[in-house]
Amino acid sequence: MIVDSFGRRFRNLRVSLTAACNYACTYCVPNGKRLQAAEYELPTEELVRAVSLLVDAAGIEKLRITGGEPLLSPKFDALLPAVMQMPLNDVSLTTNGQLIQRKADVLLNSGLKRINVSLDTLDPVRFKAIARGGDLETVLDGINLLHSAGLKIKINMVPMRTQNADQIKPMLAYCLEHGFELRFIELMNMGHLRQGNQYQQDFFGMEEILEIIGEDYEFTRTDAPYDSTAVRYEIPDQGNFGIIANETEPFCSSCTRLRLSSNGYLYGCLSNATCHDIKPILELDHHQAMVQLQSLLVKTLADKQDLSFQGEVTVMKFIGG
Ligand code: SAM
Repeated sequence: MIVDSFGRRFRNLRVSLTAACNYACTYCVPNGKRLQAAEYELPTEELVRAVSLLVDAAGIEKLRITGGEPLLSPKFDALLPAVMQMPLNDVSLTTNGQLIQRKADVLLNSGLKRINVSLDTLDPVRFKAIARGGDLETVLDGINLLHSAGLKIKINMVPMRTQNADQIKPMLAYCLEHGFELRFIELMNMGHLRQGNQYQQDFFGMEEILEIIGEDYEFTRTDAPYDSTAVRYEIPDQGNFGIIANETEPFCSSCTRLRLSSNGYLYGCLSNATCHDIKPILELDHHQAMVQLQSLLVKTLADKQDLSFQGEVTVMKFIGG
């Protein structure tokens, strides 16, 4: 087992299926242009082998499928059932929800138990302004479909001062009413946000989020697993919500995440653009691949930040948010 001086090891793997997305969210890309797939993206078979080797070599317990928009990728239909067969405690998916209905059969037949849907507003006009693509009703219908089928739903919202901070209360009310857990993600200073002042203008932190919620609800902080990125709160008799407080309460010192980009690079830290090519390893036999992968994982673990998120030019969609 590879462990660093903070006692961190890789436990959670995030696999980006594609860098392509059908949205162009204002906090993710600088202009209205949607991201395209990378020039070379791992074909399905190589991606499944890469994941399987990583699960073995790093001792991965939890896996999240992400992107880009994972449901856009033709690889999704084969990847999901393949990872469901792997010896993992938990498999989940992060999606913008636009294609849930189209992928309902694959999703429901896979045995997947939970899903995270990114949704920043319940206002259809604001939705278009932030996502610069997609359609709100389609997302809500998709969420309902999976919820009716028994999947556990978490909703991810990035609150931004100038774009959707007034949606914090309606979003929380919607989630509590339906039994979904809302996760507020503090805006991260990544990609184009590193230039100009959009980040400074829009950052809306944990304290302010809690202040707004406190106007209407009583809540208490609850325990979260050691390597959880979210600070969790309970609203008695109504439900829970969480805040992924990258800035306010950084979780770097207990981070167990490893990322595999759609074009075959390993990233040890969202806040570090250093990456390691896994493709040559995929050409080796199992024994050799495991040996090489161990030394690549040592390097990748050393890329983690010590204390707090420092921001990076990397775009979340490329390396898998
Ligand atoms: N397309 C999928 C989706 O929308 O969930 C998966 C990829 S998306 C990059 C994953 C998550 O990253 C989303 O919840 C999105 O809101 C979040 N995200 C992207 N850029 C961000 C930023 N600068 N700060 C905080 N969250 C960000």
